[in-house]
Amino acid sequence: MALSKDSDEDGDAWDGMQPDGVGEDYMPEEEEGADLDPGASGSSVPCGQSGKKGPTSTSAPRGTRHLPPSVVTAFKAALASPLLTEKSTTHMPTLYSEHRSFWLPSPSPFFQLRVANDASDLNPPALYQPRFFYWDPQPLTRDGSLYCPISGCNAVLNRHGTLDHPRRVVGLEDLYWLIGVRCRCPDCINPKTRKKGTVTFNSWDNRILDSLPPSLATFFPARLTARSGLDKAVLRLLCSACGNGVGTKQFVDMLSNLHHRQHDERHLLYLNSIFAGPGGRGIGKWPTDTIFEPFLKYSDPKGYGGFIPSSQWLRDIYDSFIELHASDFNQFTAMLPLDVGALDHSHKVTKHIALIDGVPTYTALMSITNQYGDIRGAYLCTSKAHSQFEPALHSIADSLQQYGHQLPQLFFTDNVDDAPLLKRSFPSLAEGVTPVDPNASLPLFTIPGDVTVTLLYTTNQIENTMKSIMDTLQVDDKDQTIVIGLDAEWNVRPGSSSLSNTAVMQVAFEKHVYVIPIARFTAKGQLPRGICAVLQSSRILKVGRMVENDLKCLASEARPGSVFTGAVELAQLAKQRHLIPAARTSLSELVALTLKHYLEKDQSIRVS
Ligand SMILES: [Zn+2]
Repeated sequence: MALSKDSDEDGDAWDGMQPDGVGEDYMPEEEEGADLDPGASGSSVPCGQSGKKGPTSTSAPRGTRHLPPSVVTAFKAALASPLLTEKSTTHMPTLYSEHRSFWLPSPSPFFQLRVANDASDLNPPALYQPRFFYWDPQPLTRDGSLYCPISGCNAVLNRHGTLDHPRRVVGLEDLYWLIGVRCRCPDCINPKTRKKGTVTFNSWDNRILDSLPPSLATFFPARLTARSGLDKAVLRLLCSACGNGVGTKQFVDMLSNLHHRQHDERHLLYLNSIFAGPGGRGIGKWPTDTIFEPFLKYSDPKGYGGFIPSSQWLRDIYDSFIELHASDFNQFTAMLPLDVGALDHSHKVTKHIALIDGVPTYTALMSITNQYGDIRGAYLCTSKAHSQFEPALHSIADSLQQYGHQLPQLFFTDNVDDAPLLKRSFPSLAEGVTPVDPNASLPLFTIPGDVTVTLLYTTNQIENTMKSIMDTLQVDDKDQTIVIGLDAEWNVRPGSSSLSNTAVMQVAFEKHVYVIPIARFTAKGQLPRGICAVLQSSRILKVGRMVENDLKCLASEARPGSVFTGAVELAQLAKQRHLIPAARTSLSELVALTLKHYLEKDQSIRVS
């Protein structure tokens, strides 16, 4: 929302605002270009407006063309006021030495209105008297001197008169105006004219402000842009609003409401005074031919001259403020604890980042928050791949140790695949943690007492047992099938995904479980014939979890050209029977679902 015509672009298009640095528009020709050293105006200019110059040739004296007439009149009166012209022995203006204030006294509308005996007393401009803040820090420093802020110079600056134009500052409920002075360095050489003594500074130049003692600089009330300024209290409110989810568009609405309310209140005072009549004797006591001046609209430059900056302007000020303090924020963030963390990707912020050839530069902002909800880290990512932010996590771990914090004990994420990455980055997450099986509360599954477990080691034992299984198949009944349970184990190397040959196979048949170490056979690529016969027979159904895979491996290790058939995949069977939603369920879950028992799979035994 932008109320005045000028605010549509950046809020700085008011020609009454001379650019920071040197007012080349009204300075003598030879002084033009002063302050051309790098950073002359940049320090107070957000959003790259330092290069922005106003029109260079104008018919009206620049700076006063669009100032509200009430401001021009009051500004001239202020400059002529003894408060500024009369100096104490310490060269302080009376405003400082006697009134001990930076603010010029501003009459309250109440006193303007209570003496209204005549229509001419009811003068609307008297109701919106601008407020002025006079900033001349030189006599206020310890030794009464200002020093040239240009690196390597440090000469004592000379007074060079009062600035020709006031500087507008947007306050919470109204505007106010800064009156400044110009200081000249006697030593610096103007890089443009190659002349000495033409480099000048405004008293509110950020470099001057930075050189002042903090106890003085803190009383400067505004943060300035190229041509305008924002009251520090409003800036603090803006920062707080942005930090609490109120955007600059909403903030402009709030600011607009406050400014308009002030204008409307003054308008109402004016109307009430007319209604009260001369000397409070009633409206009927005004002479019949009395003409009252209209109370002009809020943004009328000839009247109240109200101004609300655009949201973009506020955003730029906010951004520049944040950028100015970026290293402080980073330092603060790096020192926060992270006992409990949370990690998430946001895709909202990246939508507001400029596109390159229509392509987003980043796809996500990965944020890490701590137990207090503070952001502990935020990283722009081009994808959600772990490689994008793993270095960031490691640097968080480093900073936690550097500042004496403990590593996180707990981490929340909406993606369980982050777990290995988080454990890698923060080893504390895996310390003293025993994974809990959700089915561990069920009765432990044990092999029934009437089932025997036999180790078949010799070739003879194997062949005999396999033959006994084959013998149960009726020769004359081709449709008869028998069922065996089948599983296989491999030697594994922790941390490696490659598998060696099958080391052990287990066959469960009727009331027997046979454990067969077959590593020595598979290593030679020759499984005993009995095993091959059982595995090849399509009439012997091999039941198991991932049994198809086991058969495939065994076939590749048995003899060239072997094909093993008859696999019955337990998980698929369970899915077909609508026991489980997906065929990826593990054996222990199947046991829990079907047998209501807990199948213990002790990792230390499985990998030993
Ligand atoms: Zn200098």
